[in-house]
Amino acid sequence: MILHNNFEKRRVRVAFVTLGCKLNFSETSTLARQFEAAGYDRVDDGDVADVYVVNTCSVTEHADKKCRQTIRKLHKENPSALIAVTGCYAQLKPGDIEKIDGVAVVIGAEKKGDLFSIVDGMFASSAESPSGKAVCPAEYHCGIEDVKTFFPAYSCGERTRSFLKVQDGCDYCCTYCTIPLARGGSRNPSVASLAAEAHDIAGSGVKEIVITGVNIAEFGRSSGESFLDLLKALNDVDGIERYRISSIEPNLLKEDMIRWMAGGTKFQKHFHIPLQCGSDAVLAAMKRRYNTRMFADKISMIRSIWGDVFFGIDVIAGFPAETDEEFCKSYDFIKNTIHPAFLHVFPYSMRANTPAALMPQVNDTVKTRRVEKLMALSDRLHAEYCGRYAGTRQKVLFESACKNGMMEGYTGNYIRVERPYDASCVGRIVEITL
Ligand code: SF4
Repeated sequence: MILHNNFEKRRVRVAFVTLGCKLNFSETSTLARQFEAAGYDRVDDGDVADVYVVNTCSVTEHADKKCRQTIRKLHKENPSALIAVTGCYAQLKPGDIEKIDGVAVVIGAEKKGDLFSIVDGMFASSAESPSGKAVCPAEYHCGIEDVKTFFPAYSCGERTRSFLKVQDGCDYCCTYCTIPLARGGSRNPSVASLAAEAHDIAGSGVKEIVITGVNIAEFGRSSGESFLDLLKALNDVDGIERYRISSIEPNLLKEDMIRWMAGGTKFQKHFHIPLQCGSDAVLAAMKRRYNTRMFADKISMIRSIWGDVFFGIDVIAGFPAETDEEFCKSYDFIKNTIHPAFLHVFPYSMRANTPAALMPQVNDTVKTRRVEKLMALSDRLHAEYCGRYAGTRQKVLFESACKNGMMEGYTGNYIRVERPYDASCVGRIVEITL
């Protein structure tokens, strides 16, 4: 990597590209604050920069491909920039990334928290080197270790909502998933440290926190505290007016937690829950920790306590054991028994080193047809859920972006609302008629 001699650190421009989930988004945001605090100028990822940090995702084959394309594009447009790559793809397939022209360093998940000091050190080495070349510490060329530490992170920048990382990793063994390989076992910091972070977020004017993790309600298993302890401590933080849970495994939805949340807390009537499939045979092949009966019981328990909650449900279409008959069962279960407000539909993507990769696969045409059918169902369910609230008074937290003269926000139960832009509404909870 060629850099100018007499390079002045404070004038280095750094840009960040985040692929994948909200967890990556929160981690990138934290890395960006570290660079900014050290005097780097943060620029947009489409701008010319001296350093690009790419936080990758590996949830599907498509995600891997997108990461490679992104890195190639950055190098093509900025051949002299230093490109540092981290994230799940970096952890799982560092060799794939190192081969790409322009990549200066690949940093595994265990060292993600050290990314700033590694890259900063590379700049220092380039400033001292007669050749002007940045030196990558040898151990970081293949710095992929087992992931054990917790890198605390939260996003900020958008003044309305922040993603607070409260947990990382997973101890489950779902047969399609590589996340435990990419992010390690379940672990979390203390309740007190997270409450302190929420307090800092509140200090920046943010009103809503989405608590984020990989298998979030496993919180406390490694530290002797409970997920409910965490929710209660966060609820007490002054300045934050709303909380959401990014996603929660259905087997970990407990009645005492729901009763507490529904009893006038800052937690909103909105859950994102991975079902993945509404067929018991497929759930068993996926090694999920529930069957359709348990899932349906959890949903009706929540509805009986808290009423018309917004349920966003993850579904994977075309998992290997999903025959036409099992797909029909799944579709009917979602439509008639669960009747959620929204479906997040993903075509199954075969991942290397998973048990599901060895099972007989569903062909792509069938997968696409099932995805389309589920998405059409989602559109109908969503319209039906939102339609129930037309004409009602709702509290909406409006965001800052202005697009074609309009701004948007969300109700507590996650209905997206648009209105003509009004600067006085930004970052405020405003009661309006939908
Ligand atoms: S619960 Fe299953 S799907 Fe979710 S991260 Fe853990 S292993 Fe992967």
